[in-house]
Amino acid sequence: MTDVPTDRPFFGHVIGGKEVESADGQRFPSINPWTREPWADVALGAAADAEAAVTAARAAFDEGPWPRMGYAERQKLLHRFADLIEAHGDELGEADTRDMGKPVAQVRHDVARTAWNFRFFADHAVMAMAETLPMDSGHHAYTRYEPAGVVVAIAPWNFPMMLESWKVAPALAWGNTVVLKPAEDTPVSATIMARLAIEAGIPEGVFNVVHGYGPDSVGEALTRDPRVDRITFTGESRTGSIISKAAAENLIPVSLEMGGKNSNLVFADADLDNAVSWSIQSIFRNAGQICLSGSRVLVQRPIYEEFLTRFVAAAEAMRFGDPLDPATEFGPLASQEHFEKVKGYVDTAEEVGGRILTGGVGDGWSIRPTVLVDMPADSPHLCEEIFGPVAIVEPFDTEDEAVALANDTPYGLDAQLFTEDLHQAHRVSARLRVGTVWVNCFFIRDLRAPFGGVGHSGVGREGGTFSREFFTEPKAVVMQINAAPADRQG
Ligand code: NAD
Repeated sequence: MTDVPTDRPFFGHVIGGKEVESADGQRFPSINPWTREPWADVALGAAADAEAAVTAARAAFDEGPWPRMGYAERQKLLHRFADLIEAHGDELGEADTRDMGKPVAQVRHDVARTAWNFRFFADHAVMAMAETLPMDSGHHAYTRYEPAGVVVAIAPWNFPMMLESWKVAPALAWGNTVVLKPAEDTPVSATIMARLAIEAGIPEGVFNVVHGYGPDSVGEALTRDPRVDRITFTGESRTGSIISKAAAENLIPVSLEMGGKNSNLVFADADLDNAVSWSIQSIFRNAGQICLSGSRVLVQRPIYEEFLTRFVAAAEAMRFGDPLDPATEFGPLASQEHFEKVKGYVDTAEEVGGRILTGGVGDGWSIRPTVLVDMPADSPHLCEEIFGPVAIVEPFDTEDEAVALANDTPYGLDAQLFTEDLHQAHRVSARLRVGTVWVNCFFIRDLRAPFGGVGHSGVGREGGTFSREFFTEPKAVVMQINAAPADRQG
């Protein structure tokens, strides 16, 4: 923490349409996990900055043009914003790469998805239908989806701009104003996005960004502010629970997208090439730092050995290197603190009775794609979210056993299953206690579909009309059409 200027680029809060320092002038460095050196300085917010951001968002909602303008006008501005995101894709992508070590080849996908999130929700808000109900009593009722108000969006570091846009885009499209708090490990792309929103002509105070930490800092202050109307959070389940309690004090509705301990079921009849390649993507892409990662790979016994041989070979073939090199497939973990956490699971795997088939600690803050087998049923590796490139492969015999193993977790975000048997695919999908099932694939998203988790993985759903339900206050208007006796009530 410092208030002494350096020669590194500086990224401020964006409050009320202006990029600003913290009220007390404090800054913090953003560390590049590949070089393990600071590469940018960022405004370090405190409660006063959170308060200023909510004040700006409140004023923009209560008095500004954004909630009052037509959907088509908002749509036009959000598309202009998406155009600018695409035009500045390299700058945004490199910011996320430098902040968290995600390979540029993968970040390109995040830039495209970020722009698409704004385009999709801009159009969705225009096209989404509201119900009109003709009533027997000679009246009709219709629904108005009115913006909820000031939305606080609190984001994690694993898909910085993409997950931020997943919240900010529907909130803005439905006429709300937003205060975004990015994760402290990945602050930079949020400031760049907010600069671009101003350039696109989005009015001041509509999209605010405030940087800082969670507990006793900006994050906590935002969740305790009674002027806020919605809180949307993505991050750890433990944090979600804390935020939920803070929001409950002021009866603020929350949407929580949280952790996962997801299973990847490979049945004996699966197309093995397809199963191996998606399973590798699922657990090793983004160095395993994906909430949806299929970290428990359950393989039916007749193909267990063959799957394992191919899976280990594919894991060992992944290219490690500088995340800014387009050929790199995996880089360091996002921060030293996170590296130490994942390393702890790798270091203890054999102590608790398991075996490391491949992988282990790599250079710098990296963990090589790691495959564990023979993990005892009560090992923490099998029930806790590791959030790193660590796959645990286990055999199973029957469909019932696979479903029981997959459901034996307090989480319930997603599952993948690989089979060529159509009936089995439908049957098992229905039995898995999760928010999403991917059959013969992984991480294919349609923004109209519900997204979220059950149990400790989530509260609520976002996507398409599910986002509309969260970011609006639906209002019923009942109107008399034909003269009807006054006693036709209720
Ligand atoms: P985290 O919970 O540590 O932090 C997330 C955000 O919450 C950060 O911006 C942080 O500053 C803020 N925060 C922390 N404590 C707070 C508090 N008391 N009040 C207000 N804000 C607070 O999570 P993380 O380490 O950044 O992200 C990794 C986690 O996110 C993993 O568990 C992963 O599974 C989960 N995740 C879930 C999804 C999903 O869609 N379900 C997607 C991505 C990541």
